[in-house]
Amino acid sequence: MRITKVEVYKVTLRYREVFRIALGASSRTTNLIVKIYTDEGMMGIGESCPSRRITHDSIETNLEALELLAPKLIGVDPTRIEYIHKLFRKVYGNPSIKAALDMAMHDIIGKAAGLPVYKLLGGFRSEIVTDITIGIKSPKEMAKAAVNLVEKGFRTLKLKVGVDPDEDVERIKAVRDSVGGDIAIRIDANQGWSVREAIDVLNKVYRYDIQLCEQPVKYNDLEGMARVKERSPIPIMADESVHDAKDAIKLVKLNAADVVNIKLMKCGGLHEAIKIASICESAGISNMIGCMGESRIAITAGVHLAMALENIIYCDLDSDLLNLDEVVAEGGASIEGDVRRVPDAPGLGIKGLKEDMLVFIKRWE
Ligand code: MG
Repeated sequence: MRITKVEVYKVTLRYREVFRIALGASSRTTNLIVKIYTDEGMMGIGESCPSRRITHDSIETNLEALELLAPKLIGVDPTRIEYIHKLFRKVYGNPSIKAALDMAMHDIIGKAAGLPVYKLLGGFRSEIVTDITIGIKSPKEMAKAAVNLVEKGFRTLKLKVGVDPDEDVERIKAVRDSVGGDIAIRIDANQGWSVREAIDVLNKVYRYDIQLCEQPVKYNDLEGMARVKERSPIPIMADESVHDAKDAIKLVKLNAADVVNIKLMKCGGLHEAIKIASICESAGISNMIGCMGESRIAITAGVHLAMALENIIYCDLDSDLLNLDEVVAEGGASIEGDVRRVPDAPGLGIKGLKEDMLVFIKRWE
């Protein structure tokens, strides 16, 4: 089997409401969709959701990277995923577009094998419970949003915090008071606190039964995060601090977190994600699978990974639920209450896209 054609399209997705985190606020996302064709009639789909703030890439840099990578892929056997990632390493950064190409390649491999991607990668479970994220607002507004989401069937809430330590404590208290004791609450400070603030807040909110705290301090302060972990009664999860397998090794050496959040957009796809999970599992660190602002295309790839690997025990795959627009017309990951599943179909199981939403950019053949 050989790759005969690579196409890239742009799509803009509006959020249901302005989404605010400690790093900034946004109301929409512009993503790239790739389609990879083969000489055996199979087509694979992938998606990139670049972010200057987190993955340090953008639509512009992704397209520059694709100008270099796409011609190299023509004629290559898409099942040679290890070789393809060797080609990827010749282009600096741009993990988001590499993730898009990687998931399209896995889509093709699954179709060729007649297996869903999660069965190719490990097939550990058949469904996974996701949390749902609440952006930063006033304590009262966040409590109201929390009640609405619990009524919709979500049993795990992820609260964005990290703007002001005292207000953050109020936000967490307001949500816990409004949803009662049966709902799991995770918090994500997106690097918003100093080491001292993080230790202080986490000791104050421990009484509200917080499952874990994501990225309390700056991404490049692993030593600081290790100090927070040592003095926090709440487990610490690294997100922005760990992009790829090499970062995971550094984190393990410094014993800086209890959990690592894997995102396809940070690490460059399923292939690297498995390496991160292997390192973490061997070091006794659990994984979460998270997301950026992806549509259901990349979310579907994330659900496949979560279902494949035992070490991914937490799931934060909710961006398609927060988006007002959706590019998948048929197939892909489903949601029932807070349970995500993928179709038992070959590849990613995405049957059709809303083609009229896609803006064609370029084709290589
Ligand atoms: Mg995070």
